[in-house]
Amino acid sequence: MTAIFQLRPTARRSRPPLDELTRRHRIETLQRMATQAERAGVRILVDRRTGQHVALEPVASPYCLLVDITGCTCRHFGVWGRCGHHALFLSQTGNIPDPDPDPDVTVIFGDVIAQVPA
Ligand SMILES: [Zn+2]
Repeated sequence: MTAIFQLRPTARRSRPPLDELTRRHRIETLQRMATQAERAGVRILVDRRTGQHVALEPVASPYCLLVDITGCTCRHFGVWGRCGHHALFLSQTGNIPDPDPDPDVTVIFGDVIAQVPA
């Protein structure tokens, strides 16, 4: 018995590659978590002496949470590797990249054809 396979040319999709989708999803998740934390009343403050950032919960609590570029000291970050405190810290310090950056501008060098009189 002979199997017959018919190959059809696949349409070229304009969908970005998986790495790009994953990167964009992570950025959008961080932005969403930062917005939720901010709406919930989480505040990021800086210790004047050490320069260390801390997160304060909106509820009265005797504790503050240390946050930096690598993470947060809360339990949620310890379990899941991400939390609203860390996302808000990254957002407020400008460490969440733009999910849709402008494409690179290509500069083309060439001869000057005409010059506008001053
Ligand atoms: Zn946290």
